[in-house]
Amino acid sequence: MSEQGIGTKCVQAGYTPKNGEPRQIPIIQSTTFKYDTSEDMGKLFDLEASGYFYTRLQNPTNDYVAAKIAALEGGSAGMLLSSGQAANFFALFNICECGSHIVASSSIYGGTFNLISVTMKKMGIDVTFVSPDATREELDAAFRENTRAVFGETIANPALTVLDIEKFAAAAHDHGVPLIVDNTFPTPAHCRPIEWGADIVTHSTTKYMDGHGTAVGGAIVDSGKFDWMAHKDKFPGLTEPDESYHGITYAERFGIEGAFITKATAQLMRDLGSIQSPQHAFYLNLGLESLHVRMKRHAENGQAVAEFLQGCDKVSAVHFSGLESDPYHELAKKYLPKGGCGVVSFELKGGRSAAEAFMKKLKLAAIETHVADARTCCLNPATSTHRQMNDEQLEAAGIPAGLVRMSCGLEDSADLIEDIRQAMA
Ligand SMILES: *Cc1c(COP(=O)(O)O)cnc(C)c1O
Repeated sequence: MSEQGIGTKCVQAGYTPKNGEPRQIPIIQSTTFKYDTSEDMGKLFDLEASGYFYTRLQNPTNDYVAAKIAALEGGSAGMLLSSGQAANFFALFNICECGSHIVASSSIYGGTFNLISVTMKKMGIDVTFVSPDATREELDAAFRENTRAVFGETIANPALTVLDIEKFAAAAHDHGVPLIVDNTFPTPAHCRPIEWGADIVTHSTTKYMDGHGTAVGGAIVDSGKFDWMAHKDKFPGLTEPDESYHGITYAERFGIEGAFITKATAQLMRDLGSIQSPQHAFYLNLGLESLHVRMKRHAENGQAVAEFLQGCDKVSAVHFSGLESDPYHELAKKYLPKGGCGVVSFELKGGRSAAEAFMKKLKLAAIETHVADARTCCLNPATSTHRQMNDEQLEAAGIPAGLVRMSCGLEDSADLIEDIRQAMA
């Protein structure tokens, strides 16, 4: 059978009930699972049989939803985590250890920037940040003998740069390491990074996948294509025996398609316990069922709002890769032919005070530290997330004081534009 379309997968993938079973994914609200003999359970602990024994590691509800996300991304396996932060940490820490080095795009979510540059640094993991626009030569120069992963975001939050996935993947592969792409903003409805060479895909499911501002969560999908054994010395955690599991070697036992997610589940989830609750996984699945329909509307609303803002005389710049004038428009045509997402950022000529006054006047768009919700929301970094910085520091960080980030929801674009028009006036 040929591969199903993305919409069919959004609705149906991951869970196929048998005769007489619930049509909707059941919420298995149980911390533990019962076995007839200790021997049965022992096999699970030894990873000799697959099954559930404790929800800190795995739960059937989560696995149905993770299988759907893996199918959407075109990967071999997936897992859910308690947050997007946990997903990015697990994806990196599954192959990095004290003494490792990461090459990361500098244009990434602030939380991930802190995770990599501050917290992981304390664990002895070093990073070199590169421009998302780096040339192949500049990328090559960032690698070291101890580099273990390359990291970037398809559409970066909040800068809205578009990653040249093929270029970053080629550089990663020529240096024998995988490319990890955070695909939170476009979602697999609008971009599937694995098709362009990414090896591992991560998500903050809190954003468009949930889509209703309901449940914080994260996900990791493995492409099942990166050959760990071909770079045996670099990834001992996958290619050498795990003494905490009686010496099994993940890459041998679970193969190229299963090793990464099995290790992250059996070892990291066991030790760090950052699983999504089955209740959240259920909410997430409700969001996924309409993801393809919603993403189309989010991107259309983003496009309409961006085009309107471009014609406003109080606006000095609009950042949205769907605009022909945007520096990332060519990359967007290649990687995001169906559109990107609903997030638009723009600069008001009057700076910080103009941004504050404008946002106060908005009626539909609420002021929130959130994006990718059914309801339109907006944020002025200078007076909220980045308020510790003065105007000069903001300018240097590429976040002018008058910048407003607007996440266009699912309302009618005419109403969103009218709201912006009256607030500008
Ligand atoms: C929000 C976000 C994260 C962090 O996700 P949480 O679910 O808030 O932990 C990571 N990456 C991107 C691109 C995000 O937008």
